[in-house]
Amino acid sequence: MERIDWNSTGWEELAPYAGRVRLPGWDCTTGLVVGDGAALLIDTGSSLREGSRLRADTRKLLGAHARVTHVALTHPHFDHVLGTAAFSGVGVYGAVGLDTVLAHGADELCADAVRNGLPAREAASATEILVAPRHQVSGELTLDLGGGRQVLLANIGPAHSGHDLVVLVPGPREIVFCGDLVEESGEPQAGPDAAPHHWPAALDRLLELGGEDALYVPGHGSAVNAAFVREQRATLAARFGVS
Ligand SMILES: [Zn+2]
Repeated sequence: MERIDWNSTGWEELAPYAGRVRLPGWDCTTGLVVGDGAALLIDTGSSLREGSRLRADTRKLLGAHARVTHVALTHPHFDHVLGTAAFSGVGVYGAVGLDTVLAHGADELCADAVRNGLPAREAASATEILVAPRHQVSGELTLDLGGGRQVLLANIGPAHSGHDLVVLVPGPREIVFCGDLVEESGEPQAGPDAAPHHWPAALDRLLELGGEDALYVPGHGSAVNAAFVREQRATLAARFGVS
């Protein structure tokens, strides 16, 4: 595999084969894991415009030797899913039931995006052609990206939303893309679709998957370590009155 120059597009290198970008506006993370001839994008941004920008970024990063072949959506919140149509033609993965939420909840997703400051026209155009995942993950699923690069998709919700999926990337240092189960740049958000009582247990599962030495990449904010996730678990447990 040719060396990827992550900085050339303003992305953060997490490993030679994995990086992420913090998108403007809502500081939402999009991740990329690269194999041989294939690559997995994790979350697609808050609009078609953002999705297109991500597509251009990934083309530049991957060059001739790979393209985005898989998309994993961590959960059905607008800032994580509205750019998916820019990647039409790739295999889209989500927690089982996410397809139904996106298929029947497009109006609510659009309204939520506008409430959060996305211009109404952009919200409408993105939700009109919303892409629902065709590949449902219940439990765990391994994706082979070629060149010995495998990633594990794990459905560990409901917690932050009704459909939380995390991505584990094995390597010298394991990387866990946490979606919004972990937030670093602000308080974890518990909206109407959250399952607060399950959240601490979901973080236990997250820590079990990643282990003590993994790099945990939150949906919003800087990458953190296991100690940070444990602390957030304790805070959430106290906040929601669960053990
Ligand atoms: Zn969220």
